[in-house]
Amino acid sequence: MKRMSFKGRGMRKKFIPLIVLVTVLICGCGTPEKELSGGSVFAFDTYMTLSYDTYSEESFEDIKREIGCLEETFSVTKDTSEIARLNKEKRINASSDVVVLFSKAIAASERTGGAFDITSYPYVKAWGFSTGEETVPREDELKELSAFVGYSKISVDGNKVSLSDDASVDLGGIAKGYLGDVLADKLVKEGCESGILSLGGNIRVIGKKTNGSLWRIGIRDPRDREKLLGVVEVEDTNVITSGGYERYFTDEAGNEYWHIIDPFTGKPANNGIISVTVIGRDGAMCDALSTGLFVMGEERAKEIYKSSDDFEMIIAMKDGRILVSEEISKAFTKDGYQRGRIEVVSGQG
Ligand code: ADP
Ligand code: MG
Repeated sequence: MKRMSFKGRGMRKKFIPLIVLVTVLICGCGTPEKELSGGSVFAFDTYMTLSYDTYSEESFEDIKREIGCLEETFSVTKDTSEIARLNKEKRINASSDVVVLFSKAIAASERTGGAFDITSYPYVKAWGFSTGEETVPREDELKELSAFVGYSKISVDGNKVSLSDDASVDLGGIAKGYLGDVLADKLVKEGCESGILSLGGNIRVIGKKTNGSLWRIGIRDPRDREKLLGVVEVEDTNVITSGGYERYFTDEAGNEYWHIIDPFTGKPANNGIISVTVIGRDGAMCDALSTGLFVMGEERAKEIYKSSDDFEMIIAMKDGRILVSEEISKAFTKDGYQRGRIEVVSGQG
């Protein structure tokens, strides 16, 4: 089995293009502006870079403490985390972060008809995505695991969170989005008016750039990580991408398997979508939707967009088409080298 990308190596690759990307886009416009200072940290299994106008060493230490604290709470692989404890004991008195995040995860499951489902963890584990030891599980193994999957097995009652039927959860599809919300709120409360938080595939921007113009965020081409699909101009929002290219492996026959699992089959979602970018104010919800829409496929993703008013989307298809939702289409510019057609997805009539 040839492993194309695994944690340590894949992460470093992820780090360099992100820094380059953000730098290029920040410097890439004519008007001089105040350089934002910032720092980097490795957490949540990825490199994170945070630059903001109120940066100081002291404030960054504080931010790092906050990130460390949430990682200690949400990590599925750290034995002592609240989530590891929940997976073991099936019932815990949860912290407010876990209660809020679970409520959002359940809401996202309901919106996506179960395409986003944190109880997919047994499948994620069987494919080896949580440990970096990727393998193709047997059909009968996946069938057995299906008894443990389904978001109706989660209940939240006050601060009591419990899992029935031996279910277990993994917050990999939503935790970084929530982290972006927490950090942005904290910085804004402390007086920050301009900042960009790059949290491994998730971008949270605060306000506008220091020269008053919009942030220009590059969206990676899922077929070639050195290239761009295009650039989107935004302010005060999240730009969150889920792509098959983020973590995948290839078997001897050349089949690619990625880490976004269809909870109804137990297998990597494979419906013609190769990346989904969701743009909106609620980072946790946008993160969950990026994973959920990837699983739902083109038609259902369009339907959910039509019945929602809290997010915009940019979806790259295997056949080269780029689906761009109506509102954000005005702010999206396709990269020159992209040959595929843009299809604008209209919203509520
Ligand atoms: P990342 O930003 O880490 O690349 P995504 O936001 O796309 O990730 O979420 C993928 C992660 O979410 C997987 O690594 C796994 O932990 C978890 N996951 C996979 N499939 C699902 C699903 N259908 N619903 C919820 N979580 C999922
Ligand atoms: Mg996600």
